[in-house]
Amino acid sequence: MGKAIGIDLGTTNSCAAVVENGKPRVITYKGGQSTIPSVFAIDEKGDRLVGHDAKKQAQLNPTNTVAAAKRLIGRNYHSKTIEKVKQVFTYELVEGESSEVLIKVRDQIFTLEQISSAILRKIREVAEESLETEVDQAVITVPADFNDRQRQAVRAAGKLAGLKVLRVLNEPTAAALAYGLGKNLNQRIAVYDLGGGTFDISVIDIKERIFEVIATGGDTFLGGVDFDDRVMQWVLESFQKQHGIDLSYDRVAIQRIRDAAESAKIELSSVMRTRLCIPFITKNEGGGGLDIDMELTREKLEELTGDLVERTIQTVERIFREAGSTRQQVDEVLLVGGQSRMPLVQRRITEFMGKSPSKGVHPDEAVGIGASIMAHSLAAATANDDVTLLDVLPMPIGINKVDGSMYVLFQKNQALPDHQTRTLTTSKDNQRSIMLRIYQGEARLCADNELLGTFVFNNIRPAPKGKVQIEVSFHIDSEGILNLTARDKQTGQTVESTLKLGKVTDDKGKKDGAEDEAPPPAAAPPPVAFTMPQSSLAASLGSDLAAPTTPPAAPATPGPDVTATETRAETTKTERVPEKPSERTTAKPTLPPPAPAEEPGLWAKVGNWFKGLFGGG
Ligand code: AMP
Repeated sequence: MGKAIGIDLGTTNSCAAVVENGKPRVITYKGGQSTIPSVFAIDEKGDRLVGHDAKKQAQLNPTNTVAAAKRLIGRNYHSKTIEKVKQVFTYELVEGESSEVLIKVRDQIFTLEQISSAILRKIREVAEESLETEVDQAVITVPADFNDRQRQAVRAAGKLAGLKVLRVLNEPTAAALAYGLGKNLNQRIAVYDLGGGTFDISVIDIKERIFEVIATGGDTFLGGVDFDDRVMQWVLESFQKQHGIDLSYDRVAIQRIRDAAESAKIELSSVMRTRLCIPFITKNEGGGGLDIDMELTREKLEELTGDLVERTIQTVERIFREAGSTRQQVDEVLLVGGQSRMPLVQRRITEFMGKSPSKGVHPDEAVGIGASIMAHSLAAATANDDVTLLDVLPMPIGINKVDGSMYVLFQKNQALPDHQTRTLTTSKDNQRSIMLRIYQGEARLCADNELLGTFVFNNIRPAPKGKVQIEVSFHIDSEGILNLTARDKQTGQTVESTLKLGKVTDDKGKKDGAEDEAPPPAAAPPPVAFTMPQSSLAASLGSDLAAPTTPPAAPATPGPDVTATETRAETTKTERVPEKPSERTTAKPTLPPPAPAEEPGLWAKVGNWFKGLFGGG
């Protein structure tokens, strides 16, 4: 067995750390740098570049240089956020077969997992060189707000990079470990994590070696690059006003302005004014060179980005409400992530919390250090190194109701791991399959949440309607990853299931989500099949990633719509599943009864099928 390391896979930079002789430390790159840019590129010779080499040539090769790809992981190609990103990203995004985002670099199509795995492989190589030993296991961190699909994509990327992923760990939880382990603390802390691409806030109770997340949340689309974009837009508008030239169509110019904007922004954390100087950004009508030479003050930067900082403060307020915690109950506030170095962020947090942030952690290194502590604890498995991490589900998981809203199976901030069962039944005589769509997100309507997958339970034994009962078990593990198993309650037989990741838009107008017939096999592209009980979203998402993906195939044809008329349901609450390093010691919040009070009226209106599915409570 090789060594286990912790990896902070960041949007802009990544960092690795290791525990040696009982002490965690950041692994440094050859030049002494502790981070590696999360950048991938293919140069004109066809060579693949990762990290510093890729970043260095970005201005000359912007269309074939992939940066900030973490922002795209697990996203639907048709989402509003991807629409926005397409306008500012310099590389080409392509739609995948399941509406996922793929990236085109020099005529090759890559999945997000492949891009992330290239960065992870680089980190692994750097670590092996530095530690002079094989590295084959890792704990990889993700934003606390990542959904199931995003977590699985990171797991898959780790596997592709040849790493055994010991755990996918939330970034704020990792920072809390770096801060609190070995100090015999009894504290409530808030971790404010504003990195390159994401913002997270978590409220965590530390009791010696037990780290219990009380509430977590954030914004996977708010980070340092948004601050850079604001400066970039300001430069573009000023240039257009001055010269009448719109540079936003010039990808090389955009890349140069973005780099200069980021440098100016960083400088303004320590000085009050700076200059953005970019020679020969374009030509004028006469063919002469035009430069950018502008002054940017800290005051102007704060004016351009103040609303972004306010957005983080509003999220902090909301998470405190969800945690049932007052600001006074928080003993320490940790600021992590490079963007938290901005003086405006520090000022607003100090004002909001009524206390200065802790100086106890390094903003760039805390997450990697925490991940290495967890990796060491999981790999070493000695009593002394045992750490207990008790995390929560960042966003609700549920299924579609007939009115398009989400029936929540697992609540936000649900303590993990957790387990629920529901019983489905048939609505037609001799019905052979049942479909179930699973969503994750905080929106009321499923359409505004992330479709995690569509499960089709196949080869159901022929019987009169309502006579076959399929018990579906939903298990969310300690990483927030969902697994499904199903069995025929009467026979005890496992029910075969397939997971489809079809386009969400294919099913518009259909009675979505609870019970349906599967599409006829001939009309649909082959689904990703797997056998229970390993059935999980992870199993399917992680497959088929070893080679660059071919461009998208035709969408699946939706199957016929079916209405169930007589069904029964039941909920089984089960014991928490103990897991390494140790069990959660606190009481599990009770789930609300599956049928909300107003449901009978709704059911009466729309028919009995949904009532049948979950009405047994
Ligand atoms: P991370 O993902 O934690 O590496 O954070 C990277 C982000 O932090 C990038 O957007 C950087 O531009 C930003 N950043 C790094 N240092 C500073 C600084 N001193 N002031 C403001 N932003 C910074």
